[in-house]
Amino acid sequence: MNSPVWHPYAHLKTQQRMPKVVGGHGAHFTLENGDTLLDATCSWWCMIHGYRHPRLVEAIRDQAERLCHVMLGGLSHDPAEQLALELVRISPPGLEHVFFSDSGSVGMEVAMKMAVQYHHLLGKPEKHRLLSLMKAYHGDTLGCMAVCDPEEGMHALFADALPRHHFAPAPRAGFEASQEEVQADLDALRRVLERHHREIAALLMEPLLQAAGGLNMTSPHYLRGARALCDEFDVLLIFDEVATGFGRTGRMFAAEHAGVTPDILVLSKGLTGGYLGHAATLATSRVHDAFVGDSALHAFMHGPTFMGNPLACRVALESLAVFEEEDYLARIDLLNRVLRQELLLDTGLRDHPEVADVRVLGATAVVEVKGGAALHGVADFARRHGVWLRPFGRWLYTMPAYITREDEVRRITAVMKDWFR
Ligand SMILES: *Cc1c(COP(=O)(O)O)cnc(C)c1O
Repeated sequence: MNSPVWHPYAHLKTQQRMPKVVGGHGAHFTLENGDTLLDATCSWWCMIHGYRHPRLVEAIRDQAERLCHVMLGGLSHDPAEQLALELVRISPPGLEHVFFSDSGSVGMEVAMKMAVQYHHLLGKPEKHRLLSLMKAYHGDTLGCMAVCDPEEGMHALFADALPRHHFAPAPRAGFEASQEEVQADLDALRRVLERHHREIAALLMEPLLQAAGGLNMTSPHYLRGARALCDEFDVLLIFDEVATGFGRTGRMFAAEHAGVTPDILVLSKGLTGGYLGHAATLATSRVHDAFVGDSALHAFMHGPTFMGNPLACRVALESLAVFEEEDYLARIDLLNRVLRQELLLDTGLRDHPEVADVRVLGATAVVEVKGGAALHGVADFARRHGVWLRPFGRWLYTMPAYITREDEVRRITAVMKDWFR
């Protein structure tokens, strides 16, 4: 019988039967037929501790015995209070208020709504549009789709149904680019702001790593320049660190590479170590305090049913404790060195005629090919070699769990290289 499960991003006519996963341990998961696969993607980048981490499992179990859920409207509880304090402690200085929600997309919706209402409350209701970047991906809900790359993104079909926002070119200068090389990107951003700032509430970006839009790696200078432009034009700066947060770029948050504090920061994916869906939208006191006032309009009208879910908050707290106690940043550094050594220093891959570029940042590596056809069949090839890779478009990438051992990472990179042999 055909399964009634409708799978994400699947082409229904050509999709193959989806293998069932029955369990997992460390960087591997196990299929129904007994095969184990080394997960090179840590399940869409969220399972940073790998599968069945004993401390995370125990945290959920313990919390389940006390309180699985209660509404956050009019009530509070320790896991939410403690997690908010922890997020304020570890995030860039100045972010002091935490709004919880249940997924990255909703966390971004909250951020965008907050930015528009902020300007409204300060007497600038005309600032109600957003400025995003080409190659951006911010989620699949309607509001998020409107700020994803309108051409290469996956939502072009909906263009006429979405609100119109502004877009600046995707930054071209890479992570290691000099200030001078970044200037052209910042000039392009300035031109859009000069023309449209009167109606722009916020600039939003995935700092340093535009992930699902093509793993475009950009420079800390760009973040600093964007911060300065936002201040100049009275535009809020929103960092979508749903993918980059919790170590993926080599620091806890990508913003730290630049010493920049955004006005609003969105976290999800790695927040709970992937063990439950949750998100947090952090704001500075400048943003928060604009909502302190007498009129009914001052309330922020948003409240996802599962915001601050105790199980999710509790496992997020445990995830953070493990991250710090087991010095994950040092592990990420090791993963980075292995990825560089295998994919960059060994130049065989970069010189391959089908390969356009190879990039590594933190615990992320991508092989960009010239045409998507060059990746046709690579997922099956990897699976035959015991590795779970899931390329999209022209990008074959790995974002391993941080607990992935050195020899396991070399297995992943070997499969990536062998595909091109
Ligand atoms: C995954 C992702 C989102 C959307 O998060 P969901 O939890 O899938 O809704 C938003 N922004 C970025 C940068 C992401 O990588």
